Amino acid sequence: MLINSEAKIFVARRIDGDGDWQMPQGEIYRGEAPRDALLRELREQLNTNNVKILAESQGWHSHDLAALRQKWFLALFRGREGDLKLSTDSPEFDAWRWVSSVELTALAGPSKRQLYLNMLAEFADPVIDAMRLIGTSELAEPPKRTSNLLHRDILLIDAERERLDAGPLFITDGEVNFIDGFIHDGSIGAECGLQLMSYWGYCERHAWVSLAVEMSTLHGFCSRSASLYVDILRQAVDALEANNRRAVEKQLAENGGCMICTANPGRRGLLSGVELAQAKDPLPLRNFAEASSPFWQQDCCPRCIIGVSGGHLCRHHMIEVLNEGAAPDLADERQRLMNMLVRLENYAWSFSWGFRGIDGPEDRAALISAIGWCSGWSSLAALLPLPPSPASPTRS
Ligand SMILES: [Zn+2]
Ligand SMILES: [Zn+2]
Repeated sequence: MLINSEAKIFVARRIDGDGDWQMPQGEIYRGEAPRDALLRELREQLNTNNVKILAESQGWHSHDLAALRQKWFLALFRGREGDLKLSTDSPEFDAWRWVSSVELTALAGPSKRQLYLNMLAEFADPVIDAMRLIGTSELAEPPKRTSNLLHRDILLIDAERERLDAGPLFITDGEVNFIDGFIHDGSIGAECGLQLMSYWGYCERHAWVSLAVEMSTLHGFCSRSASLYVDILRQAVDALEANNRRAVEKQLAENGGCMICTANPGRRGLLSGVELAQAKDPLPLRNFAEASSPFWQQDCCPRCIIGVSGGHLCRHHMIEVLNEGAAPDLADERQRLMNMLVRLENYAWSFSWGFRGIDGPEDRAALISAIGWCSGWSSLAALLPLPPSPASPTRS
């Protein structure tokens, strides 16, 4: 498991085998130490072994009927991205990229999924330690992303370690209690409202977790999320009116913190076991998303989800692209968000008396599109695997 300074995990796409993505692996020769085999394989497959070994699996693992035993290592990549080159002599892979732990488990086929979850759990502590201690002197290139994203990934790994059985969204008891209290709380307080607006909703996982809990506890009556994202989309349409790239980039950036991360609700809850289980059930959200998917799939962000071709960048990745100096068509993007807003307003209205039933699947899809645009798509992809298309363009 090769990670970078943002706790993202290296995966590469197999040339054979239906475009499966996996971590680098290889054979240990007779008489060879496992560590030496690791360094040799990295050099052979990726052209560099500039890594720091952070941990070694306690035991030997296997994941399929072939019952090949595996020794796992966690290693931090210290080199430059440009040094990573897929072997041309006897290539096994034709593309590579860094993914979050959620994406990794979503990408893994059923035969590897449990093994990957086990390894994420076993390596969670060394990853967290490494991210805390990481000095830029260790690295050829400084970390690119904000600490915010990093924090999110660490939280996620933490949640995975504690709750391997907590479903694809890794919802903890404490989170359910917090969200349940919040959605039954009459109205959003002014302070919470402000925090939600300036942060553009929640962090990626909490955005989908909130909607999942709202869907399952209120039986689909998610008027709170609908009206929140109506407000946020209005803010987005305003932000895109700014007349230069720098201004737009600044306006789209989040301020403050995710409300649920800030509250840090812990793992315990007051609700009964039955209520917790009901609230964590991802099925209502999955059904809702599936039923409207023809209307939101074209809004999926190709940088969030592997295999999406076409699509539209989410807010984070729009900021990234602006930061890289590209010039996306902002007027076009503003028009797209305006259309989304109109559909979402219709959905929000459908919760009022006299307007029940005015919404169609395209209106309900706008809620999915709005959340994906604000916070990102990877948790939804874990819930509702979107098939990776082998022909999709990737870095290689
Ligand atoms: Zn959060
Ligand atoms: Zn994205």
